[in-house]
Amino acid sequence: MTAPTEALNHVGGKFVTGLSTFDKASPVDGRPAVTVHEAGPELVDAAVTAARKALNGSWGSSTVSERTALLRRVADRIEARFDEFVAAEVRDTGKPETLVRELDVARAAMNFRSFADTVAATGMDSFLTDLTDGRQALNYAVAKPLGVVAVIVPWNLPLLLLTWKVAPALACGNAVVVKPSEETPSTATLLAEVMAEAGVPDGVYNVVHGFGPGSAGEALTTHPGVDGVTFTGESATGSAIMRAVAPRVRPVSFELGGKNAAVVFADTDLDRTVAGLSRSVFLNTGQVCLSTERVYVERPLFDDLAAGLVEAAGKLRLGRPDDPATTTGPLISHKHREKVRSYLDLAVEEGATVLTGGGVPDLGPGLAGGSWIEPTLWTGVDNTARVVREEVFGPVAALIPFDSEEEAVRLANDTDYGLAAAVWTQNLERGHRVAQAMRVGMSWVNTWYLRDLRSPFGGAGLSGIGREGGRHSLHFYTQPTNVCVQL
Ligand code: NAD
Repeated sequence: MTAPTEALNHVGGKFVTGLSTFDKASPVDGRPAVTVHEAGPELVDAAVTAARKALNGSWGSSTVSERTALLRRVADRIEARFDEFVAAEVRDTGKPETLVRELDVARAAMNFRSFADTVAATGMDSFLTDLTDGRQALNYAVAKPLGVVAVIVPWNLPLLLLTWKVAPALACGNAVVVKPSEETPSTATLLAEVMAEAGVPDGVYNVVHGFGPGSAGEALTTHPGVDGVTFTGESATGSAIMRAVAPRVRPVSFELGGKNAAVVFADTDLDRTVAGLSRSVFLNTGQVCLSTERVYVERPLFDDLAAGLVEAAGKLRLGRPDDPATTTGPLISHKHREKVRSYLDLAVEEGATVLTGGGVPDLGPGLAGGSWIEPTLWTGVDNTARVVREEVFGPVAALIPFDSEEEAVRLANDTDYGLAAAVWTQNLERGHRVAQAMRVGMSWVNTWYLRDLRSPFGGAGLSGIGREGGRHSLHFYTQPTNVCVQL
């Protein structure tokens, strides 16, 4: 199955070309993969206008049961076209096909079903209020959609993160204008076909392609017709978007960067911990916001854990997405590889010992044009090093020893970010205690990236604003109106 080679915008139910086009290269071999139609400000305006028109039409008076049925049909249609979504995602990202099947596309369908279930089971507040004179009043809140929602997403889990926002937005009756990353335009475009097949009215789901500043992203966030912005991406971009919406005082929901810690106690099950850390450091070539880049290890276990992780890194297989033996794909682009490489150089300048990796692998002439990087582990750096403080967003981690629980908590929390943490220990009492002491949105004990979609997802500090997931998403995408009736 081949993915489309052109990514068109989708506005008011129609696929439309852009003012200009740009080519997006394959991360696997550097060859042109997709021609993307960039939306100018006029097209962004047309998309926002189409979304408003849909809200003012039948979509605006749709019922929860109509919308949940629709969301389930979208999930069914994603599954019916599963292989096309896989092919499109693989072409844009270069990820191993097995990973895209298990994680990205499967989760996309799950996102629609999960939010259909959640919205069907979620009510609003009602209070019978006692007045001082003995009378009563009935207060009840009515859930209304936020309105036209801008959905701006990154390239690392393109369809998964897009549907994580689009599904609850539609469940709540909003109309969306989505701006996928310039690096991964294809699955958002394919989803527009699926929306139409499922019966989503024209204008409810619009797609505009392009970059951020000076392009579709900026045109969308500064558009006066946008009622709220939900964004996943870098913290610095979140800050720019906040400034863009500030004059119009629009709500934002931000899922931003991380510099996530794992805390490993000496009593942990070593094999299980090595396997878990190998996933949390290297999955998706380290390009997961939840990835571990700092591993704090209780000193007696330090050498054994380091040896175990080096061995695990040695078993990773970098290669073509369609090779079932491939565990690890390339980074998303040459631009991103240059960033990651600069951190590999910086680590050495900062005094790191490179346990494994540290450079660009030679995978033969067929893959020489791709943006490959070696999985890398460092020791010999501490919390003062920039490579321990700044998000690299690659398959890298620094291993740092600690001597007490108090020190481990202090080191793990010594960061401007606050997205996720993982604690590895056989002592469950300590596991709970340390997990709760982490200044993050999500803490795991003896696992990582195990998600219940009803639980809150988000970050503290530079890692975000607000929480999404389950009813937390519904809060953002809903504008409650309270009605007070004196009885
Ligand atoms: P990015 O911030 O560069 O881009 C994200 C999106 O924002 C893209 O669609 C981009 O075109 C757009 N954009 C960029 N500048 C903009 C602007 N000024 N106005 C409007 N739109 C703009 O992020 P990225 O490089 O695509 O993704 C990697 C980052 O995303 C990492 O920092 C990672 O930690 C973060 N991330 C966070 C989560 C989370 O849930 N917390 C999940 C995945 C990724």
